[in-house]
Amino acid sequence: MQPEPMVRGRFAPSPSGRMHLGNLFCALIAWLSVRSQGGSMLLRVEDLDPARCRLSYEEQLEEDLRWLGLDWDEGGLSVGGPHAPYCQSLRTRCYEETFSLLQNQGLLYPCYCSRDQLHAAAAPHRSDGTQRYDRRCLALSEQERQRLAALRSPAWRLRVPDETFAFEDGCRGYCEANLETSCGDFIVRRSDGVFAYQLAVVTDDAGMAVTEVVRGGDLLDSTPRQLYLYRLLGATPPRFFHLPLLLSGEGRRLSKRDRDLDCGILRERFSSEELTGRLGFLAGLLPAPVPLTARELLAEFRWERIPRHDLIVPDSLFAPPNFSVLFTKST
Ligand code: GLU
Repeated sequence: MQPEPMVRGRFAPSPSGRMHLGNLFCALIAWLSVRSQGGSMLLRVEDLDPARCRLSYEEQLEEDLRWLGLDWDEGGLSVGGPHAPYCQSLRTRCYEETFSLLQNQGLLYPCYCSRDQLHAAAAPHRSDGTQRYDRRCLALSEQERQRLAALRSPAWRLRVPDETFAFEDGCRGYCEANLETSCGDFIVRRSDGVFAYQLAVVTDDAGMAVTEVVRGGDLLDSTPRQLYLYRLLGATPPRFFHLPLLLSGEGRRLSKRDRDLDCGILRERFSSEELTGRLGFLAGLLPAPVPLTARELLAEFRWERIPRHDLIVPDSLFAPPNFSVLFTKST
């Protein structure tokens, strides 16, 4: 009998700012899931976009994860391992291989559309503002293509089939999407040469033998595209778990840009055990936000307890512990 493959999970943060509550929530659940199965964890730094990512954020995020009591067996700046390098900015060769493999299958084509043209031509198809590409560059004549190529470098798109990709999400249940009608042909390399998230993440998760992907529900839409890429690479996809998104009191998504409950603020307010208890309570793992370590929380972890719907973060849960006292005094 074949031995069961070892569970391998990952943290895949982007060092584009200090992590916020939602990033910590995701990291904690990913760690709990893997460690509760005796699996191993790796840290891959998703620093593809040189304009947004910084080494100082990368160092900080490792320190913040450790502060929360989370550890990993491979990757990051500090640990290393058999799949090094673990920073996407150093993995261009791997992405070039994937790119050639897709190109050799005749599935890529250059796209010269500017952002403005894309906005004007494509009908928005979802509430999140993403758009389906109308394939205008697929229809270019050779002459038009040459004219445009002299003016600017193209992005590269992957042709998608008129096919529905379905999967059983470990958190959300059955999910499916038809690639042609949902996203259309998508970009795998930007016009500035930077490889796109979809191509990089599948190349890396497949190459690093990741068996379990736990991430925010905002990436649920990406999964059918990624399943298509796994098929084209001839690789086995991991099991996916898309977590509920954390929303502010006004129903807005937490973001790094708004410095919403970032790790610096949280660390000023709480000890690591206090924050873990609050996160565990928010995740439905604890009946009350009692302080405990991540390792202690392992005993309470069950996927069935994690909510399937987005979560409004109650202001009181992550406010400074003496918030009401301060408020009374200052008014
Ligand atoms: N790097 C992405 C982020 O920080 C996560 C990608 C993934 O988990 O697939 O949001």
